Amino acid sequence: MINTLLICGGGGSEHAVSLRTAAFIEEQLGKAADIALMQVEMDASGCLTDREGRVYHIFYDRKIRDEEGNAWAVDYVIPAIHGYPGETGDLQSQLDMFGIPYFGSAPEASKLCFNKINAKLWLSALGIRNTPYLFLCSFEPSELDRAYAALETWGAVFVKASNQGSSVGCYKVTSPEALKAAVEEAFSLSPYVLVEKALEARELEVAVYTYHHELIATRPGEVRAPADTFYTYREKYTESSRATTFVEAQGLTATQLGWIQEVSIRTFKALKLKDLSRIDFFLTEAGDLYLNEVNTFPGMTPNSMFPKMLENHGHNFTQFLTSLIRAAVSRRR
Ligand code: ATP
Ligand code: MG
Ligand code: MG
Ligand code: MG
Repeated sequence: MINTLLICGGGGSEHAVSLRTAAFIEEQLGKAADIALMQVEMDASGCLTDREGRVYHIFYDRKIRDEEGNAWAVDYVIPAIHGYPGETGDLQSQLDMFGIPYFGSAPEASKLCFNKINAKLWLSALGIRNTPYLFLCSFEPSELDRAYAALETWGAVFVKASNQGSSVGCYKVTSPEALKAAVEEAFSLSPYVLVEKALEARELEVAVYTYHHELIATRPGEVRAPADTFYTYREKYTESSRATTFVEAQGLTATQLGWIQEVSIRTFKALKLKDLSRIDFFLTEAGDLYLNEVNTFPGMTPNSMFPKMLENHGHNFTQFLTSLIRAAVSRRR
């Protein structure tokens, strides 16, 4: 038996999404006879509780203990947390220290990708075309002036908190009147703020992952938000979503497909990602491709693109997870 600890929740704005990802993973792993799953939810203060409300601590001896001292050995951890402290790599640092293997990228790669500004600096340095941007270091008039100038040049911009996901802290701004409030909001969520040129573009997403030791980049899927908005939190996760998703984008040329897959694989390797990621792109009317962002721990709810694209590629999600778990645990033993 492989004792696998599924940690969900976390202290960030994507706590609720994480619970749905965890439920999906739990269901998928229910099919694996050699995996014993234990699930704990982390609250904003880092406290871990199970469904009965028992509190747990993770100790250096690779055991998890409740407050009565009952211990449970942990062979593997699935940090099913979007945002802090999972997607940011902080939890993984602790697991590295304890010597517990886990699902997904190491701390450094996680931290790099979760900070949208750092990720863009790296992508640009690697020669990977990404959306034009500037970043603001503080909410001061001189910095704001740079944002106004960008809006004037680009016509419309996206203002984004530097480290958030699920479109939290992400605003489309088309008028100077709306800019200041958006920047202020974004600063309330992160220490730096990104101002990006808003593209009129199709949105493509690629699942990149390791399957039985082979690195795979799927054909891109597509998400389409309604014309009056973009792919907001509401369009991603709520009942009232009007977004449509396509597991395979249609009408791409062989050159476009080739570029997307080559860039996906190159990005995954260069940023030293591990196990899984979802890399998002834009395709403009003129046929130009841009990398939008790299997600080291993409949403894995039943509606999410990552598991759908993996299955569409002819792979099985349970197999994907279990083969990574078995490989990591046998390396450690
Ligand atoms: P995720 O849930 O994928 O982690 P996120 O919070 O990291 O999302 P982004 O993917 O950067 O945020 O942006 C959210 C959405 O905003 C995109 O899916 C897209 O609809 C829109 N968007 C972001 N940047 C741009 C841009 N430069 N041009 C056009 N649309 C954009
Ligand atoms: Mg993201
Ligand atoms: Mg995300
Ligand atoms: Mg995104």
